Amino acid sequence: MASREFALIDTYFKGKGHQRKDVVLGIGDDCALLAVSDSTLLAVTTDTLVAGVHFPLDTPARAVGHKAVAVNLSDLAAMGAEAAWVSLALTLPDADDAWLAEFASAVVEVCDYYGVTLVGGDTTRGPLSVTLTAQGKIPAGKQLTRSGAKPGDWLYVTGTLGDAALGLALVQGREQASSDHHEFLVGRLNYPTPRLLAGQALRGVASSAIDISDGLASDLGHILSASHCGANLFLDKLPLSQALLGTMALESAWQLALGGGDDYELLFTVPEAQKGALDTALAHCGVKHSCVGQLRGGEGISYLNHGQTVELDVRGYEHCWS
Ligand code: ADP
Ligand code: MG
Repeated sequence: MASREFALIDTYFKGKGHQRKDVVLGIGDDCALLAVSDSTLLAVTTDTLVAGVHFPLDTPARAVGHKAVAVNLSDLAAMGAEAAWVSLALTLPDADDAWLAEFASAVVEVCDYYGVTLVGGDTTRGPLSVTLTAQGKIPAGKQLTRSGAKPGDWLYVTGTLGDAALGLALVQGREQASSDHHEFLVGRLNYPTPRLLAGQALRGVASSAIDISDGLASDLGHILSASHCGANLFLDKLPLSQALLGTMALESAWQLALGGGDDYELLFTVPEAQKGALDTALAHCGVKHSCVGQLRGGEGISYLNHGQTVELDVRGYEHCWS
């Protein structure tokens, strides 16, 4: 989401109207957190994918269905939630059976895989747009938020970064890659993996977390402003896939890893005292994690390559595919 839209939400919606006592966390994090009992928080998130804006018009129906569910589950993962329910609001230009069959089977498959049930939604006619609301559960007090990081905490990411942004460049014909790399990179764009197990495993270990939807630099910025910290980011430690490194020069790969969107990996901070617990916590999650920096006082991000300061102008990520 662009900074213009954040300003719009702050001006017109944030903190307006009646504020209920059971809203533990309202607008401004990956999910809202609602106290439904003394022991359980309900985590709620909504994300919309608009054709031609959030995915290219010729994206396979299967990919649209997968991605719509996955990006919402990714926001639940960022809070440490267990995913439970989704609602699907679908706006369709016309009822194309072949498209719908593919789309629906992907939605059902992803829900099945993560033990989530589709419980409702809405269907309307108009330009293709998919809105999902996902809900999950967190034991009270165990939530991960953007605001708990402290100077000295270490900064980690799951998986690899920049692959989806290169995948988008490939489908748009802006870059070319070998056929093996092409398949992997476009797969990372169309079929993101929400890190739900990792998010839950980080309860009690991470001091803050967010999912990377708009690029590492931008999403780290949200942790830094919510936690009132700055960060040193180690460029030489960025986890870059063989496919990315085999296709781009190193500096371009950094740009995609920092400014490219759609990774849906987790970015989180861990206090020094919890560093030992981290490897054990994530051992069975099926995803690697990499230490990519450390928080400090002050504000903003400093980029370092093998300890040397590097001036980098990270090009931000805007959805603009129409
Ligand atoms: P994410 O990328 O994690 O899905 P967003 O950047 O889309 O988060 O949104 C930032 C915050 O603003 C979230 O807490 C979201 O719920 C909230 N938000 C976005 N749009 C609106 C809106 N129209 N009204 C109220 N809250 C909104
Ligand atoms: Mg998010």
